[in-house]
Amino acid sequence: MRRIPGLLAIAVLAAIPLLPVPPFWITLINNIGLASLVAIGLVLLTGVGGLTSFGQAAFCGFGAYTTAVLTTAYGFSPWATLPFSLLVGAAAALPLGLITVRLSGHYLPLGTIAWGIALYYLFGQIEMLGRFDGISGIPPIELAGHRFISGQSIFYLIWAFVIATALGARNLLDSRVGRGIRALRGGRRAAEAFGVDIVRAKLTVFIFAAVVAALSGWLYAHMQRTVNPTPFGLNMGIEYLLMAVIGGAGHVWGAVFGAAIVLILKEILQRILPGLLGATGNFEMILFGMLLVAMLQFAREGLWPLLLRLAPTRSRVQVAASQGALPGRRDAVPAQGPLIRVEKVRKAFGGLVAVNDLSFDVKAGEIVGLIGPNGAGKSTTFDLITGMLALTGGRVAFGGRKEGRRSPGAIARLGVARTFQHAKILPDMTVLENVALGANLRGSAGVVRSLLRLDRKEETLLLAEAERQLERVGLAEHRNRPAGDLALGQIRILEIARALALDPTVLLLDEPAAGLRHGEKQALSALLSRLRSEGMAVLLVEHDMSFVMGLVNRVVVMDFGTLIAEGTPAEVRRHPAVIAAYLGGVA
Ligand code: ADP
Ligand code: MG
Repeated sequence: MRRIPGLLAIAVLAAIPLLPVPPFWITLINNIGLASLVAIGLVLLTGVGGLTSFGQAAFCGFGAYTTAVLTTAYGFSPWATLPFSLLVGAAAALPLGLITVRLSGHYLPLGTIAWGIALYYLFGQIEMLGRFDGISGIPPIELAGHRFISGQSIFYLIWAFVIATALGARNLLDSRVGRGIRALRGGRRAAEAFGVDIVRAKLTVFIFAAVVAALSGWLYAHMQRTVNPTPFGLNMGIEYLLMAVIGGAGHVWGAVFGAAIVLILKEILQRILPGLLGATGNFEMILFGMLLVAMLQFAREGLWPLLLRLAPTRSRVQVAASQGALPGRRDAVPAQGPLIRVEKVRKAFGGLVAVNDLSFDVKAGEIVGLIGPNGAGKSTTFDLITGMLALTGGRVAFGGRKEGRRSPGAIARLGVARTFQHAKILPDMTVLENVALGANLRGSAGVVRSLLRLDRKEETLLLAEAERQLERVGLAEHRNRPAGDLALGQIRILEIARALALDPTVLLLDEPAAGLRHGEKQALSALLSRLRSEGMAVLLVEHDMSFVMGLVNRVVVMDFGTLIAEGTPAEVRRHPAVIAAYLGGVA
């Protein structure tokens, strides 16, 4: 059922060149197709990944000039140049991406403007590329004796590429790699904690967007049969961005919609504006600039989602019964000795010593409570253990291994999973997908497998594992809701399910019971006891003293970054320093 609108759209599209429509329309629709390719890349890069690029047209240039040079100067056939065009696009994106994705805030779009302009002038300065005159005499694409010369004939080729690219992009988003990419906007720390390599995820979308832009450039060169720098400059970069923004964050088909809106609007404006203003010029660019700013201010999610709201909602993924098993992380940490040993760990923020030479350890099959007043340094200790903050001094050993500083991902790989005091979920992803992010390290499918949907077996296992953890914590009925719709208490439980999806040996929970109702606290307490009996080590930060004292084996008490007491709940309760610093205040 849900495929019907799509198939209908394709049927209408396929019929257009067969109908007596003016050639001008065909050209316009072809241009929409070419722009859609670039915009699909931008939807992933900007809409999903949050990396704004004004320079995307330059990658079309790499694709177009590569085939222009190879076909006119070296006698290559157009099809033979396709891999080269895409490769050159990717090769250009790699160094640009390495520099660009490390920029943050406004520097990132500014960076893309800088290289967008620079590359435009570069294309116009190179002798081999014909300087600003460009290269002409590019041969048309041929397939089985048919030459794609007319607008009607290349129409099908362009749109076949658009459909294939859109499907590939959707596959990519709906995968293990895709969850990492979707976490780039607003969920980086959570993704990092579960082993997503953030820089790599950014580079992946950056290169994907560049390669599809290069594909657009390749098609453009053979449709136009001539190239010059004009369509690869900043003006087009702004138009492409506008298309992606209209299409909306994360909606692949929205890119096609956005491309259509912008190019049709451009046609209309180019006709009426010069008449209205009594002068010739690219006045539509001014309007596009204003439109872009307005969209970013008032309709960040784009216009496509508004249209989608009119359509019937689709049924969400159903998890198939899993066959086979995911690799676990349980054996990652050797079982002798404490699973975590915190040794003289220290963290200073400027002059403030948030954690002051703290030492304690947590063994397998033990729940240790880490308590202390607000600002005592408990959450900072979590960040130090999980590698999210660099140590100022001391060290953390996992299962007796003596190794230095590790990345959050490397620590997650050792079987260490955590929740956050300030919940870090991905509100737009479903509950199930949020939990599946926790199982990230238990899968291995990469970009190519995801694009081609060859990752389905593994993906089914990952989702089934997520489902299993949701059942375990009692959230299974909510699995298909956007995680942002859950109540705060449920979000905390969701974070626990996500941590469990890693199959951890060590579980670090930062105030998991805050915001839970009495019944939910009891269920959580029972779950933690069960995990302990399975041999897990749990480090628990919690303010609810009856919850902590009734559950834990030992308590570590911190105040002003320093350990002030350690022992069983009974011992700690009697400890004078604790009474003074902490419980005293409560009593
Ligand atoms: P707790 O979790 O025990 O309430 P935290 O670990 O969050 O305490 O904070 C310990 C101290 O470190 C507080 O004084 C807090 O203001 C400070 N702090 C925490 N993170 C930072 C940071 N990134 N920069 C500067 N100070 C920080
Ligand atoms: Mg805290």
